[in-house]
Amino acid sequence: MSRRGVTVWFTGLSGAGKTTLSCGVAQQLRAWGLPVEVLDGDLVRQHLTKGLGFSKADRDENIRRIGFVAEMLTRHGVIVLVSAISPYRAVRQEVRQYIGNFIEVFVDAPLEVCERRDVKGLYRKARAGLIQHFTGIDDPYEPPEQPEVVCKTAEQSISECIDLVMQSLKSRGYL
Ligand code: ADP
Repeated sequence: MSRRGVTVWFTGLSGAGKTTLSCGVAQQLRAWGLPVEVLDGDLVRQHLTKGLGFSKADRDENIRRIGFVAEMLTRHGVIVLVSAISPYRAVRQEVRQYIGNFIEVFVDAPLEVCERRDVKGLYRKARAGLIQHFTGIDDPYEPPEQPEVVCKTAEQSISECIDLVMQSLKSRGYL
């Protein structure tokens, strides 16, 4: 019998920890020889969704295209790890329905913490007015209402957060 695929969707502010956690989970799953694919927002925007901007329409289109690919892979038994800010609840709900086997991980860190981390120096630029429509600064973020997993990355360690995601995969029968 072929294995059941799933999409694990990491959503949260820039700098909340989506890439760190999705890569950490990917590493563990790969070590077990499981088929894993990572769709990281930053990378995806360089090819699959190149040319799209940060208006609501473009952000939604970005998520739909990621969802389209994630669904195909999921259907073929892959564990797909998506990390994308995906600020709008409605389109996250849409891809959830479309993909079916779906675990939403809310990577939850206060804006102040993300801004202090400023991993890519983008908050500083946004505050200086050099970047517009920056999520959390002058663009909305709609937190999930019923995510399967919440990782409080300002309070929990990276390995604790990775464990929470692994547990959710296990308890739902994906591992
Ligand atoms: P995002 O992909 O959401 O923009 P990144 O993963 O690039 O965020 O950056 C998150 C930063 O926060 C990293 O420097 C990471 O080491 C740090 N961090 C601290 N604690 C955690 C945690 N519990 N989970 C994830 N990242 C954490």
